Amino acid sequence: MALTGRVLKTTGSWSEVLLDNGRILNCRVKGKLRIGNVTTTNPVIVGDRVSVETDDVEDVGVIAEVADRHNYIVRASPGRKRQRHVLAANIDQAMLVTTLVEPDFKPGFADRFLVTCEAYHIPAVVVLSKEDLWHKASQEDATTASTYGMAGYEVVRVSAIKGWQVDEIRELLAGKTTLVAGQSGVGKSTLINKLIPGLDLKTAQLSGYTGKGIHTTTFACMFALPDGGFLIDTPGVKEWSVTDMRPEELAHYFPEFKALMMDCRFNNCLHVDEPGCAVTEALATGRVAASRYGSYLTILGELRELAHWEIED
Ligand code: GDP
Ligand code: ZN
Repeated sequence: MALTGRVLKTTGSWSEVLLDNGRILNCRVKGKLRIGNVTTTNPVIVGDRVSVETDDVEDVGVIAEVADRHNYIVRASPGRKRQRHVLAANIDQAMLVTTLVEPDFKPGFADRFLVTCEAYHIPAVVVLSKEDLWHKASQEDATTASTYGMAGYEVVRVSAIKGWQVDEIRELLAGKTTLVAGQSGVGKSTLINKLIPGLDLKTAQLSGYTGKGIHTTTFACMFALPDGGFLIDTPGVKEWSVTDMRPEELAHYFPEFKALMMDCRFNNCLHVDEPGCAVTEALATGRVAASRYGSYLTILGELRELAHWEIED
């Protein structure tokens, strides 16, 4: 009998599939799978819509087919920048969880993740967590974080512990498949536990928080939300590398730069030291945030280095 469902998690040879009838079934993955019109040996990924064959006697199934992915997100392995890892598929939106304090705000992770989302056409929301601790934040970090609204992102301030704005997050997520990312310690698991009562993801508080984060897995896993929709968690993803783009593409993935670029004097402007650059002019007047521009230059440098390597090969 053929059934359909969505992949909640996968280890490569086994996947947990939430069937449309609500049952969860462990499924083997066939050695060779049809994905759309191509046959591939790639394993299925979290978020995939699959058809499953089961004989109804055994409590296991076989994934027979993976439906066309309407999108997916890829992560390059840090250190091994050419190794790609397709993290999840069929994503409606992304939620970046970050905080101003405990740990201090780090724009590097945030901006790399947001660039990746833009590159894969996944709209992103920025969640600033631990609002109950904000009085401890440095003025500089508070200013930096406020730049995401300026850049055009929807920003929601929450305190999962106090329950502030958790309903607003619930509304944002209802009925959608949302990929959640955040550095260890920002309160991602605490927030997810608030959204999905009974899930009981391990939080740092329970496992002894050292300030370093304790997760070791890097697989994504998907959870059903009580009001419909899904969350895809990415535990252990400590770093996002941006690799799969040409240096001149990068500015397109900073929405606030993209809005200005048409006013640059040169249409191949890289917004570094070119005369008549609308982006660096906006930086001088404060319309483009210094931390965002700093992230841009850092990533641009890395992309140029990668491009250099690729030419040498
Ligand atoms: P994760 O690594 O991002 O999943 O972070 P956790 O959810 O494990 O939280 C890290 C630490 O921050 C834990 O000690 C939590 O209790 C704490 N924490 C999480 N959310 C909040 C919050 O809204 N306010 C405060 N004060 N602490 C929080
Ligand atoms: Zn420019």
